[in-house]
Amino acid sequence: MTVFRAVTDDAKAFTTSRIRKHANGSGMDPFQGTAPVGWVRAVPVGNNGNPMNVIVCVKQIPDPATPGALDPGTNTLKRDGKLILDESDSYGVEMALQLVDAAGGGEVSLVSMAPNGEVSGMRTALAMGASKGMLVSDPALQGSDALTTAKVLAAAINKLGGADLIIAATESSDGYTGTVPEQLAEVLGLPSVTFAKKVVITGGTLNVNRQTEAGYDEVTCPLPAVISVTAGVVEPRYPSFKGIMAAKSKPLETVTASDLGVTPVGWAGAGQSIVSVTQAEARAAGEIIEDDGEGYAKIVAFLENLKVI
Ligand SMILES: Cc1cc2nc3c(=O)[nH]c(=O)nc-3n(C[C@H](O)[C@H](O)[C@H](O)COP(=O)(O)OP(=O)(O)OC[C@H]3O[C@@H](n4cnc5c(N)ncnc54)[C@H](O)[C@@H]3O)c2cc1C
Repeated sequence: MTVFRAVTDDAKAFTTSRIRKHANGSGMDPFQGTAPVGWVRAVPVGNNGNPMNVIVCVKQIPDPATPGALDPGTNTLKRDGKLILDESDSYGVEMALQLVDAAGGGEVSLVSMAPNGEVSGMRTALAMGASKGMLVSDPALQGSDALTTAKVLAAAINKLGGADLIIAATESSDGYTGTVPEQLAEVLGLPSVTFAKKVVITGGTLNVNRQTEAGYDEVTCPLPAVISVTAGVVEPRYPSFKGIMAAKSKPLETVTASDLGVTPVGWAGAGQSIVSVTQAEARAAGEIIEDDGEGYAKIVAFLENLKVI
């Protein structure tokens, strides 16, 4: 049975799907190993030469290579340093670039909400090939939860004039709520397809292979729509030197929440609060079993004791 994950009440009216499982029942992608996964390489795209505009939601996050810290006053992640493009969103940027390329025209735009006017991550996406971006940055946004973030991003998307397709990642690398794309679709009143692992546009229709535990669903949906993509859907390109130089002069507009008319925001608009944060339990040291010839028996006894075998 196909389970629809879209949050819009009328999503079922918008979408049709059927399930395909791997022959061995493993749920693995049947294309894997024979052809690279990703719409552009697996299936030729028929787009009638119609230009296509895509907006990608790109989150700018603290560099995961440096340890994160929580603000003890608000229990939220400190984001006062340089922010980088969330790797999860580099897949969406790449997919957008490939879709526009296949359509034979159009452009990729970016929206992001981040503190301190931070655009470093957006510049990376511009260097990959996106044309322009809109950053929403405003001290009033501090304390905004996922739903407010979705409302802000939706307003920015509307200010950019909308798009044929809006792409987000399935979940961000620092927040992990995995809810913003579906909330965004609901706020914009658009159909939403989640966990896209392959995307093809044919004759104005979106065709998505949607990852499931058992394999994937084939979902079709009219445009405009919001999709969330999984990591590995395409191979993100590295920005070239030329792209990095060109990105410096690409248009990046910064607006505030009040410019967009979104209110209330920040703590005032948050339907959630972080009441406490507890230190994760330190990992206990593992038990080392010396193999004196009977090591296997000790391991079996150890696992039996844990009731895992
Ligand atoms: C009570 C509360 C207070 C908070 N206060 C703050 C705060 O003061 N400052 C702060 O920075 N965060 C704050 N947060 C966290 C912030 O709300 C989340 O980072 C944000 O809601 C997005 O959640 P997520 O990253 O888990 O989204 P997910 O749903 O995991 O993100 C999925 C995808 O949606 C898109 N997306 C998500 N967020 C953005 C974004 N900001 N810009 C562009 N695209 C995006 C990206 O494509 C992303 O990969 C707070 C959260 C709560 C619950």
